[in-house]
Amino acid sequence: MAERARRSVGATVAAARSALRHGIGANLAGGTHHAYADKGGGFCVFNDVAVAARVLQAQHQRDGRALQVAVIDLDVHQGNGTARIFQDDASVFTLSLHGEKNFPFRKEAGDLDVGLPDGTGDADYLAALDAALMQLDGHCKPQLVFFLAGADPHEGDRLGRLKLSFQGMQSRDQRVLDWCLSRRIPLVLLMAGGYGVQIEATVQVQLGTYRLAYAHWQRWQSSKQAA
Ligand SMILES: [Zn+2]
Repeated sequence: MAERARRSVGATVAAARSALRHGIGANLAGGTHHAYADKGGGFCVFNDVAVAARVLQAQHQRDGRALQVAVIDLDVHQGNGTARIFQDDASVFTLSLHGEKNFPFRKEAGDLDVGLPDGTGDADYLAALDAALMQLDGHCKPQLVFFLAGADPHEGDRLGRLKLSFQGMQSRDQRVLDWCLSRRIPLVLLMAGGYGVQIEATVQVQLGTYRLAYAHWQRWQSSKQAA
């Protein structure tokens, strides 16, 4: 188990390096956001985003200061470990949009937390996401974004307690991808959680995310050539 967790962290570091080179990098695992610096929690052993952010910051500087990082955590569960680890760190901004009544029942204060009621559907979710992304603009100018694209806000999820349709999930992903592309911010895509009553529904959501990510990479390439 530890070895699997170590490799997953390594894959997120590799995806982050790839994102800096190619505009986007993805790990078909990762997003283990309940892990703290000194303990695991909620299916998470090590906090891959924290390790990758620190590795990249140690290796890359921008204008003589640490790489500015934002974590956009749209898994349905709050990224409590990530929020705690970066609580006093101005170089990493943590945004979490999650079910207010869902696990973890004791939330940590991140830089921007949006707690949603049980049963939230597409329209309310996407409006909350738009508002959060607008707030993010006002708070920081990240040079690297980690996107936790959990499939668990989907209506077919056993643990999610929200009601996003497949189309709503696609719109969620597209908003984050567009936000990064329009600002030319490299993006690291991570899977995070997904617990469908029908596993096929979770896989469909995840596949949808990766299809959009592929299109995003193509747009990144073509906009680079045009520039
Ligand atoms: Zn989750």
